[in-house]
Amino acid sequence: MKITFLGTGTSQGVPVIACECHTCTSEDPKDKRLRTSLMVQTDYVTIVFDAGPDFRQQMLKEHVIKLDAIVLTHEHKDHIAGMDDVRAFNFKSQDAIDIYAEPSVQEAVKREYKYVFDNRYAGIPRMRLNNIPPDEFEIKGLRLIPIRVKHKELDIYGFRIGSFAYITDADYIPEASMEKLIGVKYLVINALRKQKHSSHFTLSEAVEHIRKVSPRKAYITHIGHQMGRHKEVSDELEPGIMLAYDGLTLTI
Ligand SMILES: [Zn+2]
Ligand SMILES: [Zn+2]
Ligand SMILES: [Zn+2]
Repeated sequence: MKITFLGTGTSQGVPVIACECHTCTSEDPKDKRLRTSLMVQTDYVTIVFDAGPDFRQQMLKEHVIKLDAIVLTHEHKDHIAGMDDVRAFNFKSQDAIDIYAEPSVQEAVKREYKYVFDNRYAGIPRMRLNNIPPDEFEIKGLRLIPIRVKHKELDIYGFRIGSFAYITDADYIPEASMEKLIGVKYLVINALRKQKHSSHFTLSEAVEHIRKVSPRKAYITHIGHQMGRHKEVSDELEPGIMLAYDGLTLTI
């Protein structure tokens, strides 16, 4: 299984438009972060978690020529805004694309992409909405276990695939969900910055959860410019924990 970090930035991306801070003026490519998304590929299936405003650019950058499904963690704009661009995959496969989302997220997608579901125009994207069952589900043989996490007032989904788990946009992980992470060897978890935030883990809160799960390797994602430069923050982290960056790949 190959994992590719398509985007590791928070909702505004890094650099932030019109910002001249220390991070946003960095020339390190690892400080250029598109909106958060992650791709999972096996010999048989390619899926992405979320399709934010940078989806098109991410598909082009990674030369994705076949996409089987988009799995949505939640409905925030930075996770669904790029879905109009599934048209390219529709044309190529001559089929609708499978979208996996829980009912409330499906409703948001139907609202945001009303023209898709009105189905009155030619050339519109084609999306097939699928539910996410609470315990587990399969996409072309790839088994996913949904993991409930809190994102301020929202209940959203993280996912586990074998020894890998992906949790973005969380600020709280209930005990029952921590149990679902037992035995995870590669953990991706969000942290926006070092200072407290109302709907995302801070770096130290993420590290606390990483220590509890105790994976072989952990990767921080959904990073804001206030986190600081990749190199400087990386130097402060304990072994086994790193800031993810766009284009980083893991083979598991
Ligand atoms: Zn987000
Ligand atoms: Zn900045
Ligand atoms: Zn969010």
